[in-house]
Amino acid sequence: MEYEAGPDAGAYPLFGVQPGSLTGNVSAMRPPIRVLPAATVARIAAGEIIERPASVVKELVENSLDAGARSVRVDVRGGGLTLIRVGDDGTGIPPAELRLACERHATSKLDGSDLGLVRTLGFRGEALPSVAAVAELTLVSAADDGGVGRRMTLRDGEVVVDEPAPRTRGTTVTVRHLFQNVPARLAASGRAQTEIAQIGQTMRRLALAAPHVRLALAVEGRLLFQTSGSGDLETALIEVYGQALAGSLLPLGPLEVAGVRAWGVVGGPELTRPGRGQVNTVVNGRWVQPRGLLALLEVAYRPVLPRGRHPVLALAIEAAPDQVDINIHPAKLEVRLLAERAVGAALGELVRTTIGQRPLLLRQPLATGLAALPPPMAIGETRAGYDEQGPIVTPGLPPLRLVGQVQDRLLMLEGPEGLYLVDQHRAHERILFERLATAHGESGPESVALPEPLLLELRPAQVASFARRLDDLASLGFECEVFGGRTFLLRAAPVLPGVLPSPEGAALAGLGQPDEMVATLLGLTDEEAGEGESWRDRLLVRLACRTAVRRGRPLDHPAMRALVEGLGHTSAPAVCPHGSPLLMHMSGTLLERQFDWR
Ligand code: ADP
Ligand code: MG
Repeated sequence: MEYEAGPDAGAYPLFGVQPGSLTGNVSAMRPPIRVLPAATVARIAAGEIIERPASVVKELVENSLDAGARSVRVDVRGGGLTLIRVGDDGTGIPPAELRLACERHATSKLDGSDLGLVRTLGFRGEALPSVAAVAELTLVSAADDGGVGRRMTLRDGEVVVDEPAPRTRGTTVTVRHLFQNVPARLAASGRAQTEIAQIGQTMRRLALAAPHVRLALAVEGRLLFQTSGSGDLETALIEVYGQALAGSLLPLGPLEVAGVRAWGVVGGPELTRPGRGQVNTVVNGRWVQPRGLLALLEVAYRPVLPRGRHPVLALAIEAAPDQVDINIHPAKLEVRLLAERAVGAALGELVRTTIGQRPLLLRQPLATGLAALPPPMAIGETRAGYDEQGPIVTPGLPPLRLVGQVQDRLLMLEGPEGLYLVDQHRAHERILFERLATAHGESGPESVALPEPLLLELRPAQVASFARRLDDLASLGFECEVFGGRTFLLRAAPVLPGVLPSPEGAALAGLGQPDEMVATLLGLTDEEAGEGESWRDRLLVRLACRTAVRRGRPLDHPAMRALVEGLGHTSAPAVCPHGSPLLMHMSGTLLERQFDWR
């Protein structure tokens, strides 16, 4: 923040000049230049680090973590403006150094070594003095096991208490009356609820960054959350976001790429959020937002999650200090991994396949017993007996034995781990989508000449934009040419099993909706791409959806087998291209529990 000029300076009451007072005879009104009193300077500097109560919590807990604490407890009252207390069992501060710890630029964490190699969270020596400038600060600390430590209180930067105090090894920092001497900050602070929410978020991030430390947050004496210090990221994630996550988290990695080690946990497709608030990245023990990396992750998980939804995710990344570019800004630390592209691509792929291969889990208990009986109604005769052939073996799915079709829309399969239901429409969609998406690979589009070219009749308004897309379409395998006037000819299209005649899709022949292909191609020329979506992406999703076999269509065994076979060869056999689930799993254990077989 710049204090010399800019709109902020006028709004800052410490300057004692109201913007409005500068109107009229400016030179007559202009106060003389003077050097600001030291206390004012200190408060201004403090403003860069201590923006709100949550900043105090962050700085103090980071100090505890730097001090090697195994357990840290935070107490907050009055939204943090009345009281913030952070107690730890770390190394403590020797009594002789208590006063020094509150001086500006005094730190025990830099011993002349390279700034770029610091592994501690703090190193600027500014947090305690900044807090002391805007609040009453009390430190009670002991650096040995003698049972006696020292208490020191600073008010307005002056030591008002300095005396021995009972204390086991560790430090307790108490901050009272935050911002009482900085009216602008006080006024800018939100309601207690808002500040508590910010503090909660700060604490959750710290807890995920330090899963090996027990962290507790109490608000007005009530425990808000607590971690066990298990060291396990999955456990920590459940502890900070709630028990509802248990059973839905999938491990990621560990993975080694470009000298960087990464591992983590991601929520399954049934566990998504409308915002990015639970996407966490921790680099070398510090919760950070590496923009480039996050963007790559999002591109990767977009196709396997419903539109606009984001995963619950925690990623821990360990990199050699010289592999991390730390931009040391006083208020926040921006971090960039040098191998961002490689790491982002690898992690993205890992997240995408992990989510994409996970069948939907039953969240509701199965209805069994009386509740499972449907209202009396006739069940149609099984159209296609039982499948006599062996299991369907694919790389993406467990070996599955086809049981049959249910309600003309679901395929029922049996695997080593229980029962599976597959949505026939979405399965076909996934197959078609991947076929289209890979059609523009290096070998060029694998397209087939249509037995008879299809005529595309355009409206006058569509002609120009359609003509502009001809190259794009060709790169996808759609060979279109101008026939004359407003008419185009579609001569060839990519191999799409079940939609256009193709040898491997023989079993699916005639099930898709080839007519929809033309309608989709035409329909999309009118539209511009939406946010974050290219025209091509949208075309692929739309084409796959429109041309795939519908629900309600009876299927014979060869067609069902071909669908499962094709699905098992895709990269994300559990979600459709829109990100909706297509595979449901009822595990053996679930059935056992539901039927009470044990
Ligand atoms: P920094 O963390 O950048 O060094 P701070 O102003 O936050 O600066 O803290 C100043 C110094 O006070 C630290 O370097 C550390 O030696 C000491 N200190 C602060 N908090 C604690 C704590 N909870 N336990 C042990 N030492 C602490
Ligand atoms: Mg610090």
